Amino acid sequence: MSTPQWIIVGAGFTGAVLAERIASQLGQSVLVIDRRDHIGGNAYDYKGPYGILVHKYGPHIFHTNSKKIWDYLSRFTEWRPYFHHVVGHVDGCYTPIPFNLNTLADLFPRQMADQLSQVLIDTYGYGKKVPILKMREEASEQLRFLADYVYQKVFENYTIKQWSLRPEQLDPSVSARVPIHISRDNRYFQDIYQAMPADGYSAMFERILAHENIAVETSTDFDSVRGLYPDAKVVFTGPIDEYFDFAHGALPYRSIRFRMFERDEAHVLPVGTVNYPNEFDFTRITEFKHLTGQSAPGSVLIEEYPEAYVPGRNEPYYPIPTDDTASALRPYQQMAQELRGKVWFAGRLGDYAYYNMDQACGRALALFEKQLSQARPPETA
Ligand code: FAD
Ligand code: UDP
Repeated sequence: MSTPQWIIVGAGFTGAVLAERIASQLGQSVLVIDRRDHIGGNAYDYKGPYGILVHKYGPHIFHTNSKKIWDYLSRFTEWRPYFHHVVGHVDGCYTPIPFNLNTLADLFPRQMADQLSQVLIDTYGYGKKVPILKMREEASEQLRFLADYVYQKVFENYTIKQWSLRPEQLDPSVSARVPIHISRDNRYFQDIYQAMPADGYSAMFERILAHENIAVETSTDFDSVRGLYPDAKVVFTGPIDEYFDFAHGALPYRSIRFRMFERDEAHVLPVGTVNYPNEFDFTRITEFKHLTGQSAPGSVLIEEYPEAYVPGRNEPYYPIPTDDTASALRPYQQMAQELRGKVWFAGRLGDYAYYNMDQACGRALALFEKQLSQARPPETA
């Protein structure tokens, strides 16, 4: 490729979708770079032991309620329907998470479980979802008893492990991702579309980026490209504070150490993921076979050990949604605003937002439609 009209930093969902849109809809040339040695961002997968498709950066399960996002991605992949199930180890019992009426029946004596279920149904309605922090505010003694129990057994220690913060120190949307569900639906997600890319995420990304106007360079940091193409517009999907050289201080992120291991057994876990809110240093274990539907004589699993993010030592996987980080982000958003028309920020790290894959994809599509599709190419002589 000669001089690219666009540089996209990051080959994850955000960067790949934007590159595809710009290349196919504006007919302009795009150079996508990533400092890692592969495309796909955190959704990257590859064939591991026993030929099992594994996710290098932790288990990624696709789910969305957006037909638009589903239809868009379906142009680049077939899907394998998959409903993710999680059990938590609570009071010595493996029981469904999110906490629901089946969890209640597993953990309490029958009469008590029936009574508490009825209170939940009467108060909120069957099929409703209630965030744990909201239920803890209830006046009813029975509901507060239940809320305190679920808080202590499911949320408190898991959240301290994951974030080094208590649930109430985080934005309420974090614990609300896994609300108490007044139903007997044991699935982790209830989205309309739930599936895994049939050939994996990396294969899907190959197809998204397979356009003649797109060039991809992996193992390439933005620092090595910055300034090489002064007329190119830039979309930056890395950490926004890093782009501005931490001018207003470093934003905090949470990282994870992954321990991938194999077992010489066909099946290890009863469901895709087991959460350990109260024991061990890891939060959860996932067995990939459940996600891929593959059969093999052995199995590959991954444990997640949350840890502080240390630049240069590990990866900034999670922005940390709190009031303090929202304030710390504002001056960077202001700086980003000043570059508009030339540089755009998007994605989990570029927006500093706790996006799921579909949200990263949706953010990219919206950014393209609302702003980038209006961006004119640089004047040529
Ligand atoms: P990323 O995937 O992080 O891509 C950004 C890319 O930019 C990276 O590849 C990085 O190397 C590159 N980059 C950064 N800075 C530079 C630089 N200076 N120069 C060059 N390259 C740079 N979502 C779900 O929907 N379902 C799940 O089950 C799920 N599970 C998850 C589990 C874990 C452990 C984690 C961490 C996330 C999970 N997610 C899940 C979220 C999902 O990973 C994100 O929504 C998605 O990857 C965001 O895409 P992105 O392109 O914004 O960011
Ligand atoms: N959470 C918890 N216990 C659980 C599951 C989740 O306390 O068994 C809380 C915890 O704070 C976690 C958040 O809910 O970080 C969001 O969970 P999710 O499974 O969505 O996290 P992710 O898959 O993004 O790591």
